Amino acid sequence: MSTSNTSVQGQRLGLTCCPTCTNLCQTQQTICSRCGQAVTSRDHSSIQKSWALLITAAILLFPANLYPITVMTSQGQVRKDTIFSGINHLIQLDLLPIAIILFTASILVPMLKIVGLGIYLLAISFELPISKRKLMAGFHIIEWIGRWSMLDLFVISITAALVNMGQIFDAKPAPAATAFALVILLTQLAAKVLDTRLLWDRLESNDDRN
Ligand SMILES: [Zn+2]
Repeated sequence: MSTSNTSVQGQRLGLTCCPTCTNLCQTQQTICSRCGQAVTSRDHSSIQKSWALLITAAILLFPANLYPITVMTSQGQVRKDTIFSGINHLIQLDLLPIAIILFTASILVPMLKIVGLGIYLLAISFELPISKRKLMAGFHIIEWIGRWSMLDLFVISITAALVNMGQIFDAKPAPAATAFALVILLTQLAAKVLDTRLLWDRLESNDDRN
């Protein structure tokens, strides 16, 4: 009960952090006294940037999943695989662990990240009545998922290694590979550019005790 009003924000005390070197600055300061970079208390344009990146990533999910991601040539026969048909093919070949890794890296992680960031941005933009505890949990999930984005590179290298073991096999990335790489890059950027302090501002101002 006594914890409701104990968190004092730096902004109320006229203090802020330098976004570059985290030096403590006064809010009226425009340039950091330590590193000389511009000091802004809150980056309000970061919501727009994050929305733009996230929506582009969500749109690119369609070509990434609908077009073939790999073109395999074996003894003159060309086989084009989308992410889904690739996973199916791996299951048929009894390579279930790789199919699970591919599903997690190519479908589950990007989807969860886009949905999670979307909820986060909606909560800030439209002041959705989502409790602080739930948003905190979501924030940790997005952070945790972010670490697994490198899994895609791992999958690509494993696939390449497996394919190159066959002698007369040739595997090349198809158009969806570019779209997919952009989805990963744009979701990473969308999370990176967002000034999360905007969310804490809203939660503190609403005095959300949940
Ligand atoms: Zn600085």
